[in-house]
Amino acid sequence: MPPLQPLPRTVPLFHNETLDSFLRRLAAANHLPTAQLLPLLEIRRTKKTPVNTFLEPLAAAAGVRPGTLELALPEFLDADAVDKLGAIGRPRSTLHSAIQRPACRRCTHAAGITMPVTCWTTHDRNVCLRHRLWIGDGLTNADEQVDISRLSDTLRAQRHHRNLIARHGRRWVRNAYPDARKIYFTWLQQTADPFDLLDTARRILTDGTGKPPSPDLTLTMVFHPQVVTLAGLLAGREWEHRAVVSGHVAWLVEQITVRNVLLGYVPKEREDPLIQWVEQHFSTHKFVAFHRSPRIYDAFFPRETIPPPRQPDEADAETRWSPFHPYYRY
Ligand SMILES: [Zn+2]
Repeated sequence: MPPLQPLPRTVPLFHNETLDSFLRRLAAANHLPTAQLLPLLEIRRTKKTPVNTFLEPLAAAAGVRPGTLELALPEFLDADAVDKLGAIGRPRSTLHSAIQRPACRRCTHAAGITMPVTCWTTHDRNVCLRHRLWIGDGLTNADEQVDISRLSDTLRAQRHHRNLIARHGRRWVRNAYPDARKIYFTWLQQTADPFDLLDTARRILTDGTGKPPSPDLTLTMVFHPQVVTLAGLLAGREWEHRAVVSGHVAWLVEQITVRNVLLGYVPKEREDPLIQWVEQHFSTHKFVAFHRSPRIYDAFFPRETIPPPRQPDEADAETRWSPFHPYYRY
């Protein structure tokens, strides 16, 4: 039997922390190497061990109730994907594209935690609005988080991103976002920076150690609003309807300029990243619509968070019909 009593030192829980990050903190608080913690508690953890089998002994060692630990760490919630209160809307840790990032260092300090914390997060959590810190793409540790109080467009983009998810569905914005980033940064590489935006931004921003952020991170933060707008445009259905009806993407191309994503944008060749994306988008939809299996649908368009429970025949707001006649099964 594992010892059902708390370790000499316990640590505060942090919402959405990864299991490894929690184990690292609990071990460090007790001056133990992380690798020794679980064996010491007589917990065997292999790749095949269902994570929920050690919820109870770990909770006892951490000095918290199992239900409390389960609610804090998404690995426990996602393990038997379920109708558990508190599970809905939480990041899915089992997704191959699940994102782990350092938690906002000011939020962890406010929770009385001095060690670094890694969290499961969703693609839209790029700015901590409470502390105006960049906590998104391009970071490997919390010291690199940059105070972006002076980048008002990037702060606004965080709210815009949330509104886009409410309008188009998380699944679709999540699906478009990494592509929007890729497309936008490919365009940027082909364009000069006539206003020295990057140098200006690097001069006014510093990270947690007082140094200017790296050029790549600066680029990510400064052009985040454009990437979010482009992701919203691609996640919406209007361009798709217009393209299917008219047989071309003139409207989509025009919107890139109209919405200030990239002024004066005109694709010059078929290798243009947006044109390639459109072709890929339609061929994926054709493939998925042809195979009328929900598993294929979920594999191509995975959900980022644990969905609310549904009746088997209940329509799902995040499921779309394919734009193609007659393959409109979903
Ligand atoms: Zn924060």
